Amino acid sequence: MPGLGGASQSPGAGKMLTAKDLSASGALSGRAAKSKTQTERHLSDPETSRDLFGVVRGKCTGCSACPGGYLKRTADYTLAPEDLFGEGARLHPHNDPTLLDCNRCGCPAGAHEVAEGDNLRELGNDAFYSGDLDKALRDYSRGIAAAPGDARGYSNRAAVLLAMAGVPCPHT
Ligand SMILES: [Zn+2]
Ligand SMILES: [Zn+2]
Repeated sequence: MPGLGGASQSPGAGKMLTAKDLSASGALSGRAAKSKTQTERHLSDPETSRDLFGVVRGKCTGCSACPGGYLKRTADYTLAPEDLFGEGARLHPHNDPTLLDCNRCGCPAGAHEVAEGDNLRELGNDAFYSGDLDKALRDYSRGIAAAPGDARGYSNRAAVLLAMAGVPCPHT
């Protein structure tokens, strides 16, 4: 479990909402922003601890080489067909089971345990960015229950509550 301060946070897993996010989301103005969907967001970061399906993955249960947790370079998902054929080349990505393998340890995504607290917080972030504050609140609360020592969930939940109340962030 990540400690306070987030020093051990994985890429993509430690997102803490800021005042900028609040205004960007349109939450304060009551308008849902036209933001990227969950799928687009976790596929557009160059490195992520979320698997292809958006689940935040933690450390590997299949080996000891991956204490930092699952890491995926999303550029792998867009390998061009010409990279994939020919001698020693890989299969077409959509049929290639190695596509989900961790870039840190090489094991499949499914061998990495789901990082419950981080995962729920990311689901909350997805909901927040899509303007669904009720779902964001629920996901953050579940994330806090899963990882009560992680301050990021409380901070993000507070941001949602402020947005729900229409209160501008005091730090802006
Ligand atoms: Zn592994
Ligand atoms: Zn790994």
